[in-house]
Amino acid sequence: MTAIHAGAALLADGWARDVRIHCDNGVISSVETGVPAQPQDECHAVIVPALANLHSHAFQRAMAGLAEIRGRGDDSFWSWRTVMYKFALSMTPDHVEAVAARLYMEMLEAGFGRVGEFHYLHHDRDGSHYGNIAEMAERIGAAAAQTGIGLTLLPVFYAHSGFGGQPPIEGQKRFIHSLDSYERLMQGAQAVVKSLPGAVLGIAPHSLRAVTGEELAAIEPLAKGGPIHIHVAEQTKEVEDSLAFSGARPVEWLLANAPVDDRWCLIHATHMTETETRRMARSGAVAGLCPITEANLGDGIFPAPAFIAEGGHYGVGSDSNILISVPEELRTLEYSQRLSQRARNVIADAGHSTGEKLFRQALEGGGKALAAGTGVEKGKSADFVALDISTLSYLPTPQILDQWVFAGGVGVDSVWVRGRKLVQAGRHIRHREISDRFNKVMAELVDS
Ligand code: ZN
Repeated sequence: MTAIHAGAALLADGWARDVRIHCDNGVISSVETGVPAQPQDECHAVIVPALANLHSHAFQRAMAGLAEIRGRGDDSFWSWRTVMYKFALSMTPDHVEAVAARLYMEMLEAGFGRVGEFHYLHHDRDGSHYGNIAEMAERIGAAAAQTGIGLTLLPVFYAHSGFGGQPPIEGQKRFIHSLDSYERLMQGAQAVVKSLPGAVLGIAPHSLRAVTGEELAAIEPLAKGGPIHIHVAEQTKEVEDSLAFSGARPVEWLLANAPVDDRWCLIHATHMTETETRRMARSGAVAGLCPITEANLGDGIFPAPAFIAEGGHYGVGSDSNILISVPEELRTLEYSQRLSQRARNVIADAGHSTGEKLFRQALEGGGKALAAGTGVEKGKSADFVALDISTLSYLPTPQILDQWVFAGGVGVDSVWVRGRKLVQAGRHIRHREISDRFNKVMAELVDS
């Protein structure tokens, strides 16, 4: 491909001016700084690395905006989950593929280059297995292939409705695996990942509600060194149930009973004591924060300052996919801290940009959680974003990320994944076709 020239680019050691990026076979082969553009170069004002979106349930994009009507009595995460189950129970493989393709296209248009798909809608509508046990995982793979997004596939092991191995409830029948059937699913998922350049396979024990300690230990070897993601301590009810069952809080139990290290990503980890926060940070596990979803579901506020002070890593994910936005995920994370601490610029270091710190930490943590190197750097996957700052030509470079995260006026112009340009002038190259199919499917789903 032709070289790409940026007036300014965010590199591993900070902003650089007049940057030329060469890619070869999907990988960045060289990064030159302080050099003028050559006549054949594709020129952009600003280039930043593409973020990894570390936590998504693709099918839930279909219900975005449809669960915002207040129910009778107190509305909560648990009433949202009831709506979600109803929706999940009606979707076919064709529906899931069309919704996932539209979602992944939106992620690319937002500036994400990779998704961690925490995939748990496995079976047919009556709960029976499809002839091909990895049918739904293949549909996720097909959506990634159609859009070009990088995929870290995390097939979910889900077996119970509550702590202590309680039997699953009716609404969970499409999610449930035995240890044997999960192993077969992982074999199918391996084939999906092999067919997609740059794809990665990991495992996802759903939560300590849905997986017993024995099952957690039994599936861990199936990760084969790949990432291990688990939902933990999202809701206070989960903490209460965990205490009632084992006498330990969820994160406390996990750190004491599972080999949690830097291959692990603990999704949410919202409700932690100071001791849990310190221990989790020191374990090397990434905190998978989903600020927009956590706000939408009323989950609570992650103890970010204490976690970061202990050297903890975090990334961001769009989880329920209620809204797909890089700046809004980062802004919601910082604003939730400001509101709870009654302070400003909580996550930044003194004298430094908050937007840049949020972006850099989410970049590093997201890449770590999805086992994929991120950053505009020689040898890394060529995943980057050209920002449109045409209405802000006066802006000093170090303030660009603050402007994007907090003030707006910065847009995504182009996105490359593995050196392939997938988004141009803010639109995915297959936008029309993918949107048309999604709209047809949604008309069916909302009607049913
Ligand atoms: Zn989730």
